[in-house]
Amino acid sequence: MIKIPLSSPDITDLEKNAVLDVLDTPNLSLGPKINEFEEKFATYIGTRYAIAVNSGTSGLHLCVRALNIKDGDEVFTTPFSFVASANCILFERAKPVFVDIDENTLNIDINKLASVIEQSKSHNQRTKAILPVHVFGRPCEMTELNKLAQDNNLEIIEDACEAIGAKYKTKNVGTFGKCAVFAFYPNKQMTTGEGGMIVTDDENLYKFCRALRNQGRTEGNNWLQHEYLGYNYRLSDINCALGIAQLQRIKDILNKRQQVANLYKSKLSKIENIILPAEEDNKLISWFVYVIRLTENFSMEDRDSILEYLRAAGIGCNNYFTPIHLQPFYQKQFGFKKGDFPITEKVSERTIALPFYNDLTEEEIDYIVNALKKTLDTQV
Ligand SMILES: *Cc1c(COP(=O)(O)O)cnc(C)c1O
Repeated sequence: MIKIPLSSPDITDLEKNAVLDVLDTPNLSLGPKINEFEEKFATYIGTRYAIAVNSGTSGLHLCVRALNIKDGDEVFTTPFSFVASANCILFERAKPVFVDIDENTLNIDINKLASVIEQSKSHNQRTKAILPVHVFGRPCEMTELNKLAQDNNLEIIEDACEAIGAKYKTKNVGTFGKCAVFAFYPNKQMTTGEGGMIVTDDENLYKFCRALRNQGRTEGNNWLQHEYLGYNYRLSDINCALGIAQLQRIKDILNKRQQVANLYKSKLSKIENIILPAEEDNKLISWFVYVIRLTENFSMEDRDSILEYLRAAGIGCNNYFTPIHLQPFYQKQFGFKKGDFPITEKVSERTIALPFYNDLTEEEIDYIVNALKKTLDTQV
C-alpha cells in the first residue's frame, strides 16, 4: 500500500552527528550552540540580531510584548493563516483586526488594509501594528506595507514562519519589519524539532526579547535575578545544533523544494478545474507547501470528498487553512461569522495542500497527479 506523507523533514548524517556531539558535552542548554545558531541565522537573513526561541508562536508572542502591544490595542492581520499569527495578539489581550486577502497571492490585501486602517483610526487611537503573514512562503507587498506603516505610525511584525529564504525584490523576508519570526516545526523548510527565531536590527528589542525568553533575566543578572516578567521560551543546544546543520544545507534544501514545485507545476498545468500557485515578478517564493485550489464550480463538500479520496489512496493532504475568524473560540469571543471575509472563505473552502517535501520523487508526483485527475473526473 502506497503511503505518501504531507510533509517530511530532510535529516542527514550532518544533523545526526551535530546532535550527538552536543550530547557529549555538559551544555545541553544555554551552551555555545544557541549563540552560534543565532549569529549564523542573522547573517543568512541579513539582520543585525537573531534570538532563538522554542517555537514560532513564542517568537511572535515576544514580538508583541516587545512592541508594548497591550489591552485593547489593535493589530491588523490576515484571517487566512495558521492560528498562531492571530493568537499571539490575543495573548496580550490586544485585538486582531482582520483584513481580507488578495485572491491571487493569498496574502493581506493592501487596498483593503489601507481602508481598514483609515476606519480604525477614525474611531480610536489604539492602532499599533501590522502583522503580515508571508503565506505558503510567498512574500507580501513589502514596499506598500512599509509605506502604509510609516504613514500611519504603525510597526510591522513579519510572520515569516513559512517563508525562510523567500525574497521580496532583492532582500530576504524578515528584513522589512521592525522584527520578524521564523519557525522550525518539522513541516517547515528547515527544522529544529520544535523552534523559532526572531530577527531584528533593533538593539533594544533584541535585548528585551533575549531577557524575556529567559525568565526575564538581563545580561549580567545572576540565575535568580529577574528584571522583567519573563517566560521559558529557550531553545536547547540540542535543537540549535540541529538548526545549525539544517541552515548549513539551506541552499540545497530550498533548491530541492523548487525542483518539486517545478515538477508539480508542469504536471498539474494540464489538469482542468484547478488553480495553481500564482506567478509573480519581483518575488522569490520559498516553497513551504504546494497548495492548489479548485475552481468556483466546486463546493467545500466536493473539496472535502476529494481530500478523502486522496487519503484513501495513501496520499497525505489537507485543507490549508480553516479561516482564523471561523475557529470556534474566535467566533465565540468576537462574534465573527461566515461571510465576514468572503475572499478568505472562498479560497479556504477550495484549497488542497498536496504532499510536499525535499525527497518527493517524480514517480510519487505522477501517482498523486493521476489520483487527483481521477477524482476530479468523477466530480465534474
Ligand atoms: C508554523 C507557523 C507559525 C508558528 O508555528 P510553531 O508551531 O509555533 O513553531 C506561525 N505562523 C505561521 C503562519 C505558521 O505557519
